[in-house]
Amino acid sequence: MAMFCNQCEQTAKGVACTVRGVCGKNEDVDSLMDTLLYGLKGIASYAHHSRVLGKTDPEIDAFIEQALFKTLTNVDFSMEDLWDTVMKAGMMNLKAMQMLDAANTEHFGVPTPTKVRTGTVKGPGILVTGHDLLDLEELLKQTEGTGVNVYTHGEMLPANGYPELKKYKHFIGNYGSAWQKQKKEFDEFGGPILVTTNCVLIPPDGYKDRLYTTGVTALDGVKHIGEGHDFSAIIEHAKRLGDLPERRGPDMWTGAHSKSILSLAPQIIDAVKAGKIKHFFLVGGCDGATPGRNYYTELAEKIPQDAIIMTLACGKYRFNDQEYGDIEGIPRFLDVGQCNDAYSAIVVAVELAKAFNVEVNDLPLSIVLSWFEQKAVAIVLTLAALGIKDVRLGPSLPAFISPNNWKTIQDKLNWKAIGDPEQDLKDMLKA
Ligand code: SF4
Repeated sequence: MAMFCNQCEQTAKGVACTVRGVCGKNEDVDSLMDTLLYGLKGIASYAHHSRVLGKTDPEIDAFIEQALFKTLTNVDFSMEDLWDTVMKAGMMNLKAMQMLDAANTEHFGVPTPTKVRTGTVKGPGILVTGHDLLDLEELLKQTEGTGVNVYTHGEMLPANGYPELKKYKHFIGNYGSAWQKQKKEFDEFGGPILVTTNCVLIPPDGYKDRLYTTGVTALDGVKHIGEGHDFSAIIEHAKRLGDLPERRGPDMWTGAHSKSILSLAPQIIDAVKAGKIKHFFLVGGCDGATPGRNYYTELAEKIPQDAIIMTLACGKYRFNDQEYGDIEGIPRFLDVGQCNDAYSAIVVAVELAKAFNVEVNDLPLSIVLSWFEQKAVAIVLTLAALGIKDVRLGPSLPAFISPNNWKTIQDKLNWKAIGDPEQDLKDMLKA
């Protein structure tokens, strides 16, 4: 087996490393192992969402086992082998996102562009946050006819675009924004809140008793709804708390699934040929609380009128309350959905490239990502494994990517850290 580390006295004497860089002396190995672990967590979450909808893939399951095995600290793998596994993780995540897309669209229908009301209406209501659409559907079934309304929060917003979910009259719309604003928004909401997945903050006393977790999510001291989707306790809680006030925020658009976007392909191609559409941007990813994330708001605001903006995941709340208009009837702003719907964005890019008879890297397409948690890491690995060039990543580079490993990515794919939005925009439009 290759001896990947030669930085300690032990290995300098020719003794094979037995701790696989965990000693901190080979930060590039540490970095690849961390990247792999974070990516695997992201893949596992998508595979889990698919599993609850009845879809599994033994190849993904086997890869997760094998890749976790490769992170054992007493086995000696080469850097080359680890890079190879990290890239395989990217491709396996593509498969997991594809599987989830199939599971979602077969169960809930293909999303269509939908204008979403924001705020609350008079009447008892439950707020649903997280990513699990099946939990939302079960809640909608059980609240139907009870007088209790249902609202989405955070990454659940795209649920408003699915035909089998939006058919419920008491599914009113969206309240609030991304996960980092939970403490304020959950406190002000007034009704009970159902948390279906991660990206949930430890609740303060102000709303802790109104919070319920379900599925894989759990919080210390918070009520948990276990197997079987019995939501009677939270529904009764909503009734006890009574009417929410009438509140209205700006409408938001969602539901731009790849099939909806590609149904406009002939118009898009004509508009590109006529010079009416000059550029496509994919601006999205996870949101967070750090000030540098204003970059994404500024960038979206400055994107010229002859460009289409695709977005996904909760980073969109930085700019999805604006009116972007259309180009020849094609909406300029397209919310493709949750983070896993990066699959839809990839399908759109691949199909547009085919239509123009070029490679994806030759399209006038710029990708600007915000990363925060493990699913974003998995998506970043997918883009790297697909060989997508010139991606911009922020708000800061992941601390677990070592300078050498980042240089390898830059040398191969010309990825960059985000900088000044105005300058970045100029560079992207020039490219
Ligand atoms: S996009 Fe990322 S940060 Fe936002 S809710 Fe989803 S996983 Fe969490």
